[in-house]
Amino acid sequence: MILYEQEELEYLDRRALEALQLLRLKKVIACALATPFYSERLNGVGIKHPEDMSCLEDLQKIPFTTKDDLRDTYPFGLLAVDKEAVVRMHASSGTTGKPTVIYYSREDLSRWTQLTTRSLIATGCGPKDVFQNMMTYGLFTGGLGLHYGAEDLGMFVIPSSGGNTKRQIQLMHDFGTTVVHATPSYMLHLHSQIVESGLPLSEFKVKKALIGAEPHSEDLRQKIETLFGIDAYNSYGLSEMNGPSVAFECIHKKGMHLWEDAYCIEIVDRNKLTPLADGEVGELVLTNLIRHASPILRYRTKDLTRIIPGSCDCGRTARRVDRMMGRTDDMLIINGVNVFPSQIEEVIMKIPEAGNNYRILVRKKGTLDVLIVQLEVAPAVLTDDTRDLYALKARLGDALKASISINPAVEFHEPGQLPVQEGKAIRVVDERGNLY
Ligand code: ADP
Ligand code: ZN
Repeated sequence: MILYEQEELEYLDRRALEALQLLRLKKVIACALATPFYSERLNGVGIKHPEDMSCLEDLQKIPFTTKDDLRDTYPFGLLAVDKEAVVRMHASSGTTGKPTVIYYSREDLSRWTQLTTRSLIATGCGPKDVFQNMMTYGLFTGGLGLHYGAEDLGMFVIPSSGGNTKRQIQLMHDFGTTVVHATPSYMLHLHSQIVESGLPLSEFKVKKALIGAEPHSEDLRQKIETLFGIDAYNSYGLSEMNGPSVAFECIHKKGMHLWEDAYCIEIVDRNKLTPLADGEVGELVLTNLIRHASPILRYRTKDLTRIIPGSCDCGRTARRVDRMMGRTDDMLIINGVNVFPSQIEEVIMKIPEAGNNYRILVRKKGTLDVLIVQLEVAPAVLTDDTRDLYALKARLGDALKASISINPAVEFHEPGQLPVQEGKAIRVVDERGNLY
């Protein structure tokens, strides 16, 4: 049974998929050639016409596009269609420098919506579901991105946007929300607030959470699943590649299908930028094949992942990428040792006493870097015998040392004491000069 018109695209064999990719790539190259930025770049490598792309491998000739390229061409340098053809813009949530802006034509939006509908179906959502979208609506793609796919699927959509947790809980409770879309850090906050509200979880109908927009470990996913008694599915996207629904987990939860009819995937060595084989971890580089107003070719996402070899039990042919293991630019160098925040999160999530929020601080003490892990813990832990508290600190310190080769200072805080963000969590505060 065909559930929606584009379903067959998810089951194309490799040859048909690559033929479609090439066809779509040519169209995107034609759009790119209409911008001064890309026409110069493409002409520089001998591509003057879409038909100069004779095979997908020709993509390799094209230089990478970076966030700086998008900033340098701000605001309209990468617009490939007449302004009148644009029906929406989004901008990345980056906190520093000029935003990176993306434009969509009506057709671009409809192609993106098809991907979001498909992603929702892959997680088992359907028209009977009540979908509460707790991602911020606005320039950030998270909210509006999934909204239209959910409507197209016929879900009952509650566009609650981010924040105002009391109202979120009331809406969830009163309207029988079955699916929520939120950042993983917000899911934990939501849970602690439900507990505080005194409403029993049994009065909620939520079955699924679609979690994304920020890195999180498998242990954090499982924590969310256990706390709520639900399934949580990983959702990956970035505004440069439209927004949510670049890659999404299916019901099997074994990595995210990256929708290859809409995006060309490359994984490259994070330093040498040379191609890596399936299974090897490197930087994800993506080419958008379906957006014509803002074509973006070979975009360096800075996200680290790998292609999961083999096929998925669901039969979808789009290859899967593993959960993001961090970003090339979130790596901390502490006294010369490389540390990814995700390594710290993995350790924290394995500690049963850990609460719902944590923060990583880096400070300078004289010439040395100091790493401080701040963690909310259950109130009982803080009132327990201080010997137990010290033992727990030591246990956490040892586990962190084993994982990151550094023994950080560990601080415990009461629940609700550490700052909570409405959008993406700010997990790392680097007081040596940079704020992440
Ligand atoms: P930015 O945060 O760069 O301003 P976006 O709001 O488009 O712009 O965020 C995209 C970034 O968010 C991705 O490049 C990635 O680092 C992160 N991200 C999105 N979804 C996930 C996910 N499921 N897991 C890990 N990281 C994610
Ligand atoms: Zn699958």
